[in-house]
Amino acid sequence: MAIERTFSIIKPDATRRNLTGQINTKLEAAGLRIVAQRRIRMSREQAEAFYGVHRERPFFGSLCSFMTSGPVVVQVLEGENAVARNREVMGATNPANAAAGTIRKEFAESIEANSVHGSDSAENAQIEIAFFFAGCDVVG
Ligand code: GDP
Repeated sequence: MAIERTFSIIKPDATRRNLTGQINTKLEAAGLRIVAQRRIRMSREQAEAFYGVHRERPFFGSLCSFMTSGPVVVQVLEGENAVARNREVMGATNPANAAAGTIRKEFAESIEANSVHGSDSAENAQIEIAFFFAGCDVVG
């Protein structure tokens, strides 16, 4: 299995509750290495561009407001099959449907305030890493 990179965000509901360390522990326990990490306050423009694929969805405005409501931690994760591995440890979008032991099952507050983002494909991972880490050190 090839070593791969994926993009992750620890969302405002989690940073507000001081869960960055607990979430990172779960990522590392899943075999993912945090090879770049930065805490930022996302701008409305960044949120709207990042979630552009959801522009027509009824929750788009609310999602962008949520993502700009507090600090987020953007990350590059590296490991075997990292995209799929991260999606596994994240759990389902709606925490009510997330498997036991997943980040969203343990920490998410709602389908929107669900603690973490993770790229859904290797192609999107590349795009999302470039969006937040262009010009930054990523040290594998
Ligand atoms: P993900 O890949 O599991 O994060 O899920 P999606 O790509 O489908 O959705 C992106 C993000 O939009 C989710 O992580 C949630 O924060 C939010 N979201 C998804 N579905 C809903 C919904 O039905 N209502 C609201 N309010 N937010 C949603």
